[in-house]
Amino acid sequence: MSIDNLFEDIQYIKGVGPARKQQLNRLGLDTPMDLLWHIPRDYLDASGASSLDNLAEMAGQRVSLLGVIVSASSRRAGRRMEIVKAELDFNGIPISAIWFNQPYVKKLLISGESIFISGVLKLSQLGYEINVADYSLIDDGDRDLPMVPIYPLTAGLSQKTVRKIINNVLLERLVHYPEIIDDSLRLEHNLCGIQDALRWIHNPPDRWSADTARRRLAFEEMLLFKLSLAFDNSAAEGEAGISHSRDHHLVERLIANLPFKLTGAQFRASLEIFADMESSRPMNRLLQGDVGAGKTAVAALAMAKAAGGGYQSAMMAPTEILAGQHYQSLQALFAGLDVCITWLSGSCAASRKKEMLQALKEGHIDILVGTHALIQDRVSFSRLGLVIIDEQHRFGVRQRESLAAKGINMDVLVMTATPIPRTLALSCYGEQHTSWLDEMPPGRKPIKTRTLSRRLARQAYDFMAGEVKRGHQAYIVCPLIEESEKIDLQNAGDLFANLQKLYPEISLGLLHGRMSGQDKEKAINSFKNAEIQALVSTTVVEVGVDNPRATVMIVEQAERFGLAQLHQLRGRVGRGDEQAYCILLSDPASEDAGSRLEAMENSNDGFELAMKDLQIRGPGDMMGMKQHGFTGFRVLNLNDDLEIIASCDKAVQSLDLELYRNAPDLAAYISTLGKYSTVL
Ligand code: ADP
Ligand code: MG
Repeated sequence: MSIDNLFEDIQYIKGVGPARKQQLNRLGLDTPMDLLWHIPRDYLDASGASSLDNLAEMAGQRVSLLGVIVSASSRRAGRRMEIVKAELDFNGIPISAIWFNQPYVKKLLISGESIFISGVLKLSQLGYEINVADYSLIDDGDRDLPMVPIYPLTAGLSQKTVRKIINNVLLERLVHYPEIIDDSLRLEHNLCGIQDALRWIHNPPDRWSADTARRRLAFEEMLLFKLSLAFDNSAAEGEAGISHSRDHHLVERLIANLPFKLTGAQFRASLEIFADMESSRPMNRLLQGDVGAGKTAVAALAMAKAAGGGYQSAMMAPTEILAGQHYQSLQALFAGLDVCITWLSGSCAASRKKEMLQALKEGHIDILVGTHALIQDRVSFSRLGLVIIDEQHRFGVRQRESLAAKGINMDVLVMTATPIPRTLALSCYGEQHTSWLDEMPPGRKPIKTRTLSRRLARQAYDFMAGEVKRGHQAYIVCPLIEESEKIDLQNAGDLFANLQKLYPEISLGLLHGRMSGQDKEKAINSFKNAEIQALVSTTVVEVGVDNPRATVMIVEQAERFGLAQLHQLRGRVGRGDEQAYCILLSDPASEDAGSRLEAMENSNDGFELAMKDLQIRGPGDMMGMKQHGFTGFRVLNLNDDLEIIASCDKAVQSLDLELYRNAPDLAAYISTLGKYSTVL
């Protein structure tokens, strides 16, 4: 038995070929471990409706039921609407199932096959009808599943496929999953075994098992998180780190070079970071600040301090695009200061890369920017003294192990925009290790946000055209639609073509996930230097394009986005001192979506929105298991699971850390998963 089995490449799982592997990778699923922790966002439970009698009682409510497909058809309704309709046989009762604007569903509906659907049941003169919210095709072997898991999906993957692959992982790999909580502790905290938990979360025999599994997995996440922090901290405490120089000449020149005056919060955070850097203990600091709070400048100051004392810095971002952004921002901030900044990008030519790595090794490069791959790659520095990790909207935690592999005890600063409650951040990270950017740069006007029915999209675009005429710029974002990559492209592409026709005077650009790294870079650069005035894009811009001239963000089909995402998207505008606008085009199909959009109209504050998000998801979310947009935890809900968090605090205190540290398998598991559940 070895946990290595859990971290193999996903392609070795039965049912995963090269094409599947790519699709799964796109969901962030690279190993059997990832699949085991790919938590269903909901379950379809057909135990409620069974006969005509109780079906009639359930009209107006959300129901789940298993039916047999009799026939399927699709038709257009108006210019923008396509309706797919299936006639189902449900225990002898005819029911119509309706999908709006998902034409690709049609070809999945094969007569004679079984399908699980869920949605609000309507009863009219024409009979029963369900507006489908979730569905999953069912094989005969699965017909007796008491509860069918519904997974977050991506283009080309169906529920059935994901379910099968995960079941194969359960069969082949679950036995290797380590139990880290012993019997007596499990009893004390009322926890089931980890293997049972993983089996039940994917295939719960009943609601109780699903709840029990969820509780254990939430506990596991928090425990691993705490253990990995405890490991990191105690490792850091024991060892001597770098005492950065107190000489601030370069920092002062950088401050003089900035096009703005630092906010009080930026100043305070910098001083806290400086104190850590000067101390002989390795820094382990979290910098928290909402989108647009100005984290980059603080990072730049820290790097200036390192460079002033002759140390190199590495800055890591979660995506290529964001790394490119940081690179450009830093170049601008350091302009004329004789600091050598380089970007190691994926699209960088091999010869150029070799040159760069050589220069890095010889100490000619002061600041290296790249993705998180920087620390995995064979990159060696001459005097690495500071690592900055930009987690964007994840709740950051250190990655000291992989960094330690570089052989140096450098200082680490993690930046995050995750608005988690202050008390909780402190309990996880500790007061002395957290800096807050709780003050926005001055002159920011709150972004004006409006929801507009898609029928009135033209008004939104006319408004955008007006802003563009005044020299401003705009983003137009289309959602990624689960299960159909073609449609995503078509959506963004169609919109792009339409807008070109409607507004020939505007120079438009297109950006989507299937473009090469270079093309993406080109599009973003043209947008930044205003050759492109309005950028039509799929959600790739979410990760942090910084263009202060952009004043309009239009989100197509805004109901498809979570609050966290909408807030991140909106954070792309309003970065200068012009009034900025966010227009959410939407005809919300559900109450939840309506509440989310309303929350967006009413608040610009990430923390307030996070709270609202949880409130909205509360009752509507069957088990609190929908994807947690604001934190990296997959199961744990930082607000509702306070009892689990407290219980876990207690457990950690009674644990013998050395025991875990000395079992190499467990130590590896803990450090990988502790980060995995929070960082990945
Ligand atoms: P985030 O915290 O989201 O990473 P950024 O660092 O990207 O925020 O900063 C957002 C924008 O605010 C950038 O355009 C940056 O130049 C600007 N900015 C940062 N600090 C200040 C400040 N003190 N005064 C005015 N503008 C600032
Ligand atoms: Mg940022």
